[in-house]
Amino acid sequence: MAKKIIIAGAGHAAMMCGATLAKNGYDVTVYERRKRDKIGYPWFDCVNPEIFGMVGAPTPEEAGIEWAWRNDITFYGPNTDDDHKIFQHLKFPEETEIIIDRYKLYDLMIDYAENCGVKFEYGVNIKGPVVKKNRIIGIQTSKGKKMGDLIIDGCGANSVLRNNLPDYWGIQKDPPRGDIIYLYRAYFDCPVDPDSVEDKYKCIFLPSDTDFNFCWTDVVKDFDGYDKFTDVLIADIDPMTPSEAERRAEDYQKKTPELGRTRLKGGQVTPLTIREPLSNLVADGYVAIGDSAHMSMAVNGSGLSVGFEVSQILAEAIMADKKGEYTAKTLWPYAYNFWKKKGINMAPIAFVKLLIFKLTHEQLDYAFDKGILTWREMSITADQHSIFQFLHWDWALPKRGVALVRNPALLKTAAGALIDALGIFALGARLPKKYNRRKVIRWAKRYDWLFQHRLPKA
Ligand SMILES: Cc1cc2nc3c(=O)[nH]c(=O)nc-3n(C[C@H](O)[C@H](O)[C@H](O)COP(=O)(O)OP(=O)(O)OC[C@H]3O[C@@H](n4cnc5c(N)ncnc54)[C@H](O)[C@@H]3O)c2cc1C
Repeated sequence: MAKKIIIAGAGHAAMMCGATLAKNGYDVTVYERRKRDKIGYPWFDCVNPEIFGMVGAPTPEEAGIEWAWRNDITFYGPNTDDDHKIFQHLKFPEETEIIIDRYKLYDLMIDYAENCGVKFEYGVNIKGPVVKKNRIIGIQTSKGKKMGDLIIDGCGANSVLRNNLPDYWGIQKDPPRGDIIYLYRAYFDCPVDPDSVEDKYKCIFLPSDTDFNFCWTDVVKDFDGYDKFTDVLIADIDPMTPSEAERRAEDYQKKTPELGRTRLKGGQVTPLTIREPLSNLVADGYVAIGDSAHMSMAVNGSGLSVGFEVSQILAEAIMADKKGEYTAKTLWPYAYNFWKKKGINMAPIAFVKLLIFKLTHEQLDYAFDKGILTWREMSITADQHSIFQFLHWDWALPKRGVALVRNPALLKTAAGALIDALGIFALGARLPKKYNRRKVIRWAKRYDWLFQHRLPKA
């Protein structure tokens, strides 16, 4: 009999894993709390155009869905000084992402999953796991218990499943402050000619006076049914209301002529995970993927492309478990391969976020003004990049080094983050190849500590 796989929440990665499993004869059902036409968000997202091929889904072009190349980003320090802005250089087209409307991306994924044989039940609120002797054997939902041989957790960053697992598995639960940030996103009118705007996509670090924040404005033309608009994102470490975010948007409106005052679309605040991937991804009968396993880029929170890629690592591990035991031991190759292929590059990027947490506005401006930061470092925010962007030779390196040494407080903070980043590589090499619960929990505790001792206190 086909093994019964439950996808908890219509998370992107979990759903794409389910599609591959269904195509290979598994009985896969997605339980999702929202209604079909409410899944998605009123904005476009940036994704690597290769992801559709990675999972065997049609491309947006084949599915008749509009897409466009995304603008390269210009970065600013807190003083938004035009003389010291940094322009990101991405190789076109291999490093450039596309933009696609999130509702339409979901249409593409759900249609594809259904064609592969995945079943969907909407309007089902998951309340927690069903557990028997530490094995996860089902989910508690608003429509009763749903039992399965394996539960794939696609419930996102605040997953009610992950947060209620038995302690026995040593899987980290609620993320601490600083691991989830809050984003306001909206389209505003663009009162100027988009072609007259030199830096279309502006990203400012620490424009406001809170522990961690950033914002962007991005001028887009001929997309999503609009001839032009300015996309706005305002991020903060602590929850904010839409009207608080809009008050901040008013400040940017004064300095940014391309940002009009009429909101065309969006306007809600959404949580986003920006941190290192979850240290332990598996338990008997349970596996976490996507944002429920914090698999997004730790600086900007991009999680879609990596989710598509990792969905296939998980599908392979599940299909390799021929007896269908789905224990932590048989699922461990997924966690191990994720770490070796993706996690090892993603985790150290979390130290960049943690470094920004520690920097004062003056130190960050200093790093921009003295050229300590360059376009190469800024490219780590793009898909396909890693912390190794920081390690490169350039002729300005001695000058940049001297500037760093002349600011001992900045040097001390940067050196601390670098030492911890090296620590994570050393620890990564010691990840157990075979599952042993005690060894995995010990490894996970060391990993969690490396990041969490750097988080800001509330
Ligand atoms: C403003 C904003 C902009 C972003 N821009 C980008 C971008 O440009 N590129 C990019 O790659 N990423 C972007 N991201 C991040 C991206 O949204 C996530 O990484 C991505 O959604 C992957 O998460 P997921 O699919 O695992 O989980 P989610 O998208 O959170 O999906 C989880 C699903 O589970 C369902 N669910 C949750 N709890 C329950 C429950 N109890 N019962 C039933 N169902 C439940 C939810 O309804 C949802 O459908 C952005 C995020 C935000 C907030």
